[in-house]
Amino acid sequence: MSAASSDTIVAIATAPGRGGVGVLRLSGDRALDIARLLIGERSLSPRKAHFSTFKDPEGQVIDEGLVLWFPAPGSFTGEEVVELQGHGGPVILDMLVAACVHHGARQARAGEFSQRAFLNDKMDLTQAEAIADLIDAGTRESARAALNSLQGAFSREVNTLVEQLIQLRIYVEAAIDFPEEEIDFLSEGGVADDLRGLIRQAEEVLASARQGRLVREGLTLVIAGRPNAGKSSLMNALAGFDAAIVTEVAGTTRDVLREAIQLDGMPLNLIDTAGLRESGDQIEQEGIRRAFAEIKKADRLLVVVDAQETPDNLDDLATLLPQSQQQLDDLDLPVTLVLNKADLSGDPPGPHPERPDTFILSAASGDGMDALRRHLKAAAGYQGEAQSRFSARRRHITALQDALAALAKGADQLHRHAAGELLAEDLRAAQQALEEITGAFTADDLLGRIFSSFCIGK
Ligand code: GDP
Ligand code: ZN
Repeated sequence: MSAASSDTIVAIATAPGRGGVGVLRLSGDRALDIARLLIGERSLSPRKAHFSTFKDPEGQVIDEGLVLWFPAPGSFTGEEVVELQGHGGPVILDMLVAACVHHGARQARAGEFSQRAFLNDKMDLTQAEAIADLIDAGTRESARAALNSLQGAFSREVNTLVEQLIQLRIYVEAAIDFPEEEIDFLSEGGVADDLRGLIRQAEEVLASARQGRLVREGLTLVIAGRPNAGKSSLMNALAGFDAAIVTEVAGTTRDVLREAIQLDGMPLNLIDTAGLRESGDQIEQEGIRRAFAEIKKADRLLVVVDAQETPDNLDDLATLLPQSQQQLDDLDLPVTLVLNKADLSGDPPGPHPERPDTFILSAASGDGMDALRRHLKAAAGYQGEAQSRFSARRRHITALQDALAALAKGADQLHRHAAGELLAEDLRAAQQALEEITGAFTADDLLGRIFSSFCIGK
């Protein structure tokens, strides 16, 4: 693979706003030529910092700072790369970008540096994604997992599967090429054993990937219940005293309140539905529609009930919710039920003695909260901090599931003594699914989707 375009791109690599240092990155055939137009003719040693002034096209000095030249192919993108490190002011950096554009560079699109690194075989797709995940990491655990992926931990496991699959394909296809011996070849038992082993390994990788996705994206929990049941108090209690991160999450509508916290390193995204109400107002209805669209994507519904006024029938969810939230009942999300204000009702705090996924607690005093926290981690399948071997995304999990489905189908063909060609086809499909993970096999639109979600300058 090689980068289709060799045009030279430029972007500010540091975060927007003011900072001590601001970094501009150029990549492409003309990176060095363009840099020279800003810094003047002077000799640059590869990968060494040189102090220089940076001039605009009229020869006016914009700033001064360091120049670093990374010759191709030993650079991040595999192309000629120059970094200009000036002062971190937005005006200065914009003027530097404008000067580079004046000299023929093009403003980089989101993720374009990483995309070029991928296209030039500097890293595979999971590693490129890991860069974005490392930068976006919201917990130490997710940062650690992303770093493992960046260093190739995930790719290695996938590549091991692919290598074994290729061996198996060679064997099966050889068997097909000698039809008179095909039956013997395939029914010997060796192929079935290898296939079973491969399925077991792929299942292990899938389990790790699920864990890796969990530390990255966490569990999304919708909190519902009547006014004053204690939803807000419960959110605060879950966040706890030293709940490391309590942040506003982008995409907040005025109908749902979102908070991101963590439970022992597992991100927990809380959506409070308190703002959902009946409305005749058109704009408000649109807000409510959007809120429900968001809620539909959640992993679990947590219904809070005041234990002092608990109805007899806890199975009829709709009766526990206010009118405006009753459609939550139709969502088909797994439900956790909290009977709150145990300190007032006198019920002993802890897991409900008769009902599964039901917890008696006091959000105000904290009694019974630990059982709820343990339950939420268990429900998500969280294995605890330092248990994730690499970070993963939904698309990786889908691809692993596709590969496993193809392998299972192949095993079934073999079992039913179907034609070798059918088995060969399943193995081919499994390999293709696995190679989508690392990007050895990719559709162009997939690449576009992945890299366009990066920020500019990455
Ligand atoms: P929301 O409307 O569902 O968000 O309910 P809030 O969290 O705002 O709580 C409503 C009221 O109940 C507040 O006055 C809280 O202090 C009180 N409250 C919440 N949880 C408890 C609890 O466990 N015990 C007691 N005694 N009061 C609570
Ligand atoms: Zn509230």
